[in-house]
Amino acid sequence: MSDAARSPTPVLEACGLTKTFRQGPVEVPVLRGLDFAVPPGARVAVIGASGSGKSTLLHCLGGLDRPTAGTVRWVGQDVSTLGEGQRGQLRNRSLGFVYQLHHLLQEFTAVENVAMPLLIGGLAPKEARSRAELLLERVGLGHRLGHKPSELSGGERQRAAIARALVTRPACVLADEPTGNLDRHTAGMVYELMLELNAEIGTSLVIVTHDPLLAARMDQIWRLDDGSLSPAAAAGPGAAEA
Ligand code: ADP
Ligand code: MG
Repeated sequence: MSDAARSPTPVLEACGLTKTFRQGPVEVPVLRGLDFAVPPGARVAVIGASGSGKSTLLHCLGGLDRPTAGTVRWVGQDVSTLGEGQRGQLRNRSLGFVYQLHHLLQEFTAVENVAMPLLIGGLAPKEARSRAELLLERVGLGHRLGHKPSELSGGERQRAAIARALVTRPACVLADEPTGNLDRHTAGMVYELMLELNAEIGTSLVIVTHDPLLAARMDQIWRLDDGSLSPAAAAGPGAAEA
């Protein structure tokens, strides 16, 4: 076993993470030097008021936006030391993303959408398609492989988006209010699915949500307030029943 496999290197780590937006002459500080680490397999909820910077945090953690200061590490690797190409490769291999609106590509079918990250990662088309099919079956969409996003319901689209995020078996999935557009019942099912896949694949989850019931099903809950993260509650095994 390698040293990396033995030591509990966080799959995602931020140190002194700072993000300040500039609007003309005005500086808008959103993240104020926060520290955050996600261990392998962990299930983490991030809550906070609208405008508190939750999306900004996920964007900086996921490399979709650059922090003003501080470091972000993916599976132990300081992202700022990587060139554009290496960063893209590591992101493709290590991270998956789920957004509030599914962001599936409209002109492609469900199976093509889910196969896309594998194709980008260099897998042969046949193998990519067969893995995408398997995972779509796993999320209950085996009968919707050839449907385009516009031919799927809201819950089905989110399940396809989850399959797309997980198809590369990433170390961590970042989800920004993934159930924000769904009714409570469908939201509960989508959450359940993410937790099942977390258990099966061992992928860590970082989920931004404003729903306290859904947050209570995670192992840790962090609240983003005034640019800092603090533990919001000691979610434990009992919380899963909430
Ligand atoms: P949340 O996801 O918690 O609702 P956001 O991260 O979207 O919050 O936004 C946090 C703050 O940062 C808000 O005040 C928002 O107006 C500001 N903000 C976000 N993106 C930008 C940007 N590109 N330029 C300027 N301000 C931004
Ligand atoms: Mg947001």
